[in-house]
Amino acid sequence: MPAYLYETISSRFPSPNKAFIENHDGVVTTYRDLADGSARMAGVLMALGVQPGDRVAAQVDKSPETILLYLGCVRAGAIFLPLNTAYTPNEIEYFLTDAEPRIFVCEPRSREKLEPVAAKAGVAKVLTLGVIRDGSLGDLFAAAPPKFVDVARGPDDLAAILYTSGTTGRSKGAMLTHGNLASNALTLVDFWKFTSNDVLIHALPIYHTHGLFVATNTLLLAGGTMLFLPKLDADAILRLMPRATTMMGVPTFYTRLLAHPGLTQEVTKNIRLFISGSAPLLAETHREWMARTGHAILERYGMTETNMNTSNPYGGDRAPGAVGFPLPGVSLRITDPETATPIAQGYIGMIEVKGPNVFKGYWRMPEKTATEFRPDGFFITGDLGKIDERGYVHIVGRGKDLVISGGFNVYPKEVEDEIDAIPGVIESAVIGVPHADFGEGVTAVVVRDRVSALDEKGVQSALEGRLAKFKQPKRVIFVDDLPRNTMGKVQKNVLRDTYAKIYS
Ligand code: AMP
Repeated sequence: MPAYLYETISSRFPSPNKAFIENHDGVVTTYRDLADGSARMAGVLMALGVQPGDRVAAQVDKSPETILLYLGCVRAGAIFLPLNTAYTPNEIEYFLTDAEPRIFVCEPRSREKLEPVAAKAGVAKVLTLGVIRDGSLGDLFAAAPPKFVDVARGPDDLAAILYTSGTTGRSKGAMLTHGNLASNALTLVDFWKFTSNDVLIHALPIYHTHGLFVATNTLLLAGGTMLFLPKLDADAILRLMPRATTMMGVPTFYTRLLAHPGLTQEVTKNIRLFISGSAPLLAETHREWMARTGHAILERYGMTETNMNTSNPYGGDRAPGAVGFPLPGVSLRITDPETATPIAQGYIGMIEVKGPNVFKGYWRMPEKTATEFRPDGFFITGDLGKIDERGYVHIVGRGKDLVISGGFNVYPKEVEDEIDAIPGVIESAVIGVPHADFGEGVTAVVVRDRVSALDEKGVQSALEGRLAKFKQPKRVIFVDDLPRNTMGKVQKNVLRDTYAKIYS
């Protein structure tokens, strides 16, 4: 039995000379380089004593070799564990202690700082890999043979552990199997009609499920080409746009590009599909994009633990503000968070999903895992949502962001939508802040446009008559920007901390 995920990928390889990745520095990795390079990586890992099931952790900058390392792990039967490049040594120590990898790979420049951390966590071997194939792993890679007999792995074996972003409590390691990754990518190739003619603009990080699995696995299974950029850079993306057929981005990509005068119908005319996910795309952004380029952005919804769950249709109506329908093979239901019983269409509740896409559980947390699954196998996503009369799923926000004021549930999204509709408002975030009378006070943090004279009273009076009294914000705070993480998610936990004392 070969390594299931790699076998699924390699059985669909296009011509070996076809470009798999064109890096921003001009270096091209062909599909032959991919096959040889992942064999080299697998060989290096095995020679260093990596056994099937061992973890290989990496905190490295984005490069084609990082993808080769990921596939090398898969072929060697190891578990790839990518780490956010923003993590501090203190955070890295937690991940290494929790995951106990056999090998830790870091940037050459970080070696001095991270070696003691790895030693403290009991990691036997530290290697380095830089973006120009430098570092000790770069050297071993260059010297290794381009052939490897894959270690047998089935669909139920682990291919990767991705730690969740952990906005509340410690982040947890989501265990993803070969079958989870292969099945979801095959579904996406089909659903989004990817072929070997596709050229994807890839400016996402590759330590996260979006850039690593949604983008990379889908293009690998289609035999397409990725244009790698180190990060979101509107000028660079627009330069690549005429050569590309598709782009995957978080909503920030779309707002940044809309703010660029170079975004025109002409520059996007070769694109067949713009995809957005990882955070809510404002309906307004969807409409502006349509008006400016003539393209309807396709919004989809997924998470580290589940891969992709829903998508707007490829052929049908891509509804602004909705995340579409459950993907083929995925079951989705909305339940009452308290009683776990399914609730009627149109009402807000907890989104639960089941399917071959759903992870195996949290690394070394069997009890936590058990509480996140229903007895019939549905995973409790933690996202609140509803299904509209046309069957489209709408995300209302994370359950933990729900505000309970005076005993009433306030869904932040409903208040944010009303605030965003006020002239002069660019965007808003609604949070619950401790309040002596109400338990939590509904609080709005608002970004207004530079010329707007809108003030707190103006927002409050605009909402009168539009929202029930208990939903109206007791305080409105104006800021220049909302705090966001690299995946474009508004960090409501940061806002809650910043404004924790405004009612006391
Ligand atoms: P992550 O595990 O970092 O990918 O984050 C997953 C979370 O991002 C989900 O549970 C949702 O809360 C959020 N998310 C992903 N896609 C969307 C979307 N299209 N609209 C709204 N929220 C989304």
